[in-house]
Amino acid sequence: MAYSVENYLSYGYNCYMQKYKIITYGCQMNLHESEKAAGILRGLGYEECEREEDADLILFNTCCIRDNAERRAKGNIGAAKVFKRSKPQLIIAVMGCMTQQSGAGEEMAKKFPFVDIVLGANNIDKLGECVQKVREDREKSVLIDPCMTPEIHEDTPVYRTSGTNAWLNIMYGCNNFCTYCIVPYVRGRERSRKLCNVTDEFKRLIDEGYKEVTLLGQNVNSYGNDLGMKNGFARLLEQISLIKGDFRVRFMTSHPKDLNEEIVDIIASSPNICNNIHLPVQSGSDKILKLMNRHYTRDHYLSLIDMIRDKMPDCGITSDIMVAFPQEDDQDFADTLDLVEKVRYSGAFTFVYSPRKGTPAAAMPQVPKEVAKARIVELVAVQNRIVKQISAQMVGKTVRVLCEDVAPKGEGLVCGRSECGRMVTFPGAKTDIGKFFNVRINSGKSASLFGEVSE
Ligand code: SF4
Repeated sequence: MAYSVENYLSYGYNCYMQKYKIITYGCQMNLHESEKAAGILRGLGYEECEREEDADLILFNTCCIRDNAERRAKGNIGAAKVFKRSKPQLIIAVMGCMTQQSGAGEEMAKKFPFVDIVLGANNIDKLGECVQKVREDREKSVLIDPCMTPEIHEDTPVYRTSGTNAWLNIMYGCNNFCTYCIVPYVRGRERSRKLCNVTDEFKRLIDEGYKEVTLLGQNVNSYGNDLGMKNGFARLLEQISLIKGDFRVRFMTSHPKDLNEEIVDIIASSPNICNNIHLPVQSGSDKILKLMNRHYTRDHYLSLIDMIRDKMPDCGITSDIMVAFPQEDDQDFADTLDLVEKVRYSGAFTFVYSPRKGTPAAAMPQVPKEVAKARIVELVAVQNRIVKQISAQMVGKTVRVLCEDVAPKGEGLVCGRSECGRMVTFPGAKTDIGKFFNVRINSGKSASLFGEVSE
């Protein structure tokens, strides 16, 4: 029998709210896109549930940036078959970067025939339409061809789940084609939202009570280039810094080739913009940076760090650092370690290069696995030591913290990030969430700081 909302209601289930469960893999961009998917599903009358087994619709929002993220997503999609067996009316949908790869949709339909909807990361606005189609004819599945130059849909509803922090897309896509990265192939070219649309949404978020907004883009520093703006990100930060209220702003990700002094000056002079810059270096070797097509040198990167520290001595600088990129030799790796010692990041996402099919680096001579393993262990040890030293130096200092949640461990403790991005745990209650506190740091373990509220 065909299943539709109408005949479902006519069978007397009209008190029953359909439930959805979204499983998200990957970065903040994906987390925010899951919030948009949730907004669309709620508009169709669905409500969220905790467990997959209770859901009438399971949505996998996938990531393909690294092989293990892709494998994990595929494993969990395969495992969802069991829910479909016990609940045939269950709708299973897959979206995100993984399905945006060329031919991936067809491959998915073949490998997981029980999946009802496959749509790419750029087609999220079509989710509602797809769900309606499947509800009307359960025999059919819907496969939407990935779109590489989608329009920006300003009217997609968003159901935010990120607590005190709200994510805000300022742009989509990437023009940079780093040779290891799949993103430009799956997310398309850069498309910036109009400045007035970003600032309007920003003001709405502050009016709704959000205390922190994180501006999102693959390379926020090139915001507005496609709109013909000159130093568009600086113009955007300038506008945001004029908005009144007790809130703070973060942004990610910056690209070292596009971060400039004007942007740093605006951050330094605006009390609401956090002194916290995530500036992925990827490698400390000029040879490797060139092979990666990163368009900056080690010296240029270090000069940016000096410039930032000169204007904001307490700025939290974090990074992404990769080991075992193709052709990385011992000297290249030593250059990376040396750069890490020089910069002294307050946090770093360290990882082993993962070949992505279709990218130029996947065809380059690869570094043996055991070498990669030894290098990541060494890099992590160096970075952990540095973070430990920075934490020890913070003892006795007072930092402003936005209380974000109750602490995962320990009764009567809450946690939140300092302006420079460090996680701080301190005594407090659930009612403190969403408030700012001055916290005096009493002790520091490697990643977390512990303190108490000071007057
Ligand atoms: S800047 Fe490079 S690493 Fe970042 S998304 Fe674009 S291609 Fe990927």
